[in-house]
Amino acid sequence: MNSEILPRYTHWINGTATEWDGEFLPVMNPATGETMSTVAKGTAEVVDTAVQAARHAFENPKWQRMTGNQRGKLLIKLALLIEQHSKTLATMETQNVGKVLWGTTAEIKDSVELLEYYAGAAATFTGETKPLPSHLGITLHQPVGVCALIVPWNYPLMLAIWKLAPALAAGNAVVLKPSELTPITAFALAELAKEAGFPDGILNIVNGVGSEVGQALLEHPKVDKVSFTGGTQTGKIVMATCAKTLKRLTLELGGKSAAIVFEDADYDAALAGTLFGIYYSAGQSCEARSRILVHKSFYDQFVADFADKAKKIVVGDPMAKGTQMGSLISLQRLEVVNGYVEQGVQEGATLVCGGKRLMEGELAKGAFYAPTLLSNVKNSMTVAQEEIFGPVAVAIPFETEEEAVAIANDSRYGLAGTVWTTNGARALRVTAALKTGLVGVNTIMTGQTGMPFGGWKESGFGRELALETLKHYTEPKSIEWYYGTKPLNPFGL
Ligand code: NAP
Repeated sequence: MNSEILPRYTHWINGTATEWDGEFLPVMNPATGETMSTVAKGTAEVVDTAVQAARHAFENPKWQRMTGNQRGKLLIKLALLIEQHSKTLATMETQNVGKVLWGTTAEIKDSVELLEYYAGAAATFTGETKPLPSHLGITLHQPVGVCALIVPWNYPLMLAIWKLAPALAAGNAVVLKPSELTPITAFALAELAKEAGFPDGILNIVNGVGSEVGQALLEHPKVDKVSFTGGTQTGKIVMATCAKTLKRLTLELGGKSAAIVFEDADYDAALAGTLFGIYYSAGQSCEARSRILVHKSFYDQFVADFADKAKKIVVGDPMAKGTQMGSLISLQRLEVVNGYVEQGVQEGATLVCGGKRLMEGELAKGAFYAPTLLSNVKNSMTVAQEEIFGPVAVAIPFETEEEAVAIANDSRYGLAGTVWTTNGARALRVTAALKTGLVGVNTIMTGQTGMPFGGWKESGFGRELALETLKHYTEPKSIEWYYGTKPLNPFGL
């Protein structure tokens, strides 16, 4: 792999970077405001070429005959190569996304672990047998075919691997579409997959704008399955488009997750956890605990202590040691985040801290926004209902356990939540009552390898990170094999 950051990214089709004489888009470093590279603005034609390459590679008998163990071995080799290049990959990701280096380093470590997990799963994933009257029932889980993997900008490499690892473990071929804002590490991934020994055409990348290149993938008749991570609004377009050809579909969408801090919580742990739960990745995380529900008995104290700590978060150069929060993905996003904060104040919330772009010294060049807390928030306010996707927490008071659960569930989203309590029975009651795909008890570290990750309601459907994910990338086939002594002749003819 070339460890220099490549100046231009085209497409990766059939094991090689393609020539591109079409348009290029700028790729920014959001922390410095500099253009760091350019990326090809693909078209429906390039999508067709990539899908045809994937189809061809998928149907190649060599790939078809490969055992789960053999595919697992390739995934292990890829994991080792990513581990070897982790420093370079983390640097590329930080420079392109603006998030802190220790964060991208941890994401790459988790990605390596996930590849190893699916390497093992590829070797052990099998169908079932079922004895039936005079028949033996056998199920096969066969690869779906060509999978379009569409990922957003907030965890570009990690989310690509969340999809790619199970898709390849199950024996599919893929076409990956990164966000036009963050195409860089995907290319490195493709180079490493080639070095690991994946056949040409099994992993392809198309770059460009989502509404053009992404849409062309959704409409392509030879794409069998779409796995999409992104906003709920886009997810609805994806679903409607996939319905036209009944493509298999996984949707990982937005969230507005609640952290509930009960009166019996470990106060310091809850404070530290709720702080990290929203400001990690500058709040640009689907499972960010952006609504903080605090028991009335200590609401004011908690809000004051939270704001005190939020003001101390070190915001700045994401490459520098000691930085705790980097930049947002772009100035456009920063404007959206700031607009939400202003709307919250107009609707009656109190701005306790933050609420502004940071402009001191070098920060003025990037998209840095202060860690923000709004208090006296009602759950009906826009800031409590809509996904802000920035470093903005809203604090909502509650009195009873029932009220806390009702507020937490009063959302069109259902991705994640955390219950802060030392009462075990309460933890069990509340985790069962929350309408979300993920719940942490005294932790915000949900989404670990092997645990099904995904949402309820408008946060999507399907699960990633787990064994059952392999089923989303395969079609089950039931075979019923007759072994009776007489031929079956129900008509008696
Ligand atoms: P987005 O605008 O929905 O974009 C996601 C991806 O879809 C990008 O690659 C985008 O390409 C592409 N796209 C856009 N329009 C498309 C279309 N019509 N057809 C096909 N593809 C299209 O989301 P985002 O702003 O990048 O990401 C933030 C959202 O992702 C948040 O809502 C967050 O909660 C969600 N998210 C969810 C999870 C989860 O696991 N549930 C994880 C991470 C993020 P371009 O960027 O090139 O336009």
